[in-house]
Amino acid sequence: MNLIDWNVDESWTLFLDRDGVINERIIGDYVTNLGDFHFKEKALESLGKLTCKFKFVFVVTNQQGVALGKMTQKQLEEIHEYMVNEIVEKSGHITHVYSATELKNSDSTFRKPSPKMAYMAKERFPEVVFQKSIMVGDTDSDIRFGKNLGMKTVLILTEEKISEKADLEVKSIFELNELLEK
Ligand SMILES: [Mg+2]
Repeated sequence: MNLIDWNVDESWTLFLDRDGVINERIIGDYVTNLGDFHFKEKALESLGKLTCKFKFVFVVTNQQGVALGKMTQKQLEEIHEYMVNEIVEKSGHITHVYSATELKNSDSTFRKPSPKMAYMAKERFPEVVFQKSIMVGDTDSDIRFGKNLGMKTVLILTEEKISEKADLEVKSIFELNELLEK
């Protein structure tokens, strides 16, 4: 399927996973401070251009490192403030960052693939329409999250084995932005 078939315009909403999509993921560990946060190659410039195409852009990220005591809520917020400011510097924007900081267990209600973070966005910004939204992520939980909500799904390919089938697979945010410009 080609992106052009989706008829994406400014009324669409973009949902972005963070680790492995925006910044380099640390496999088996957490980005706990600014020193560990590195934008993926060409991601920052691409996010500047990509986010401009949407009225609403949300980052939805599972960060159980907070519940595990690896970082504080404040440290997480500092990382996100830096991330958003850098994107704004590139003429882009992020409407809001939603973080699920609870532990991964059966009681998780916020963590993807739970749709909770998307519902929070919709509650605050009722114009958001999930059928006119794109979820970009690098893991099964991201793709499930998007599919459960009726969104279009974009998988950023990594070395991780993925069982879910996304609507579109790309290597990077850079490539996704290029496709949207065609
Ligand atoms: Mg990820």
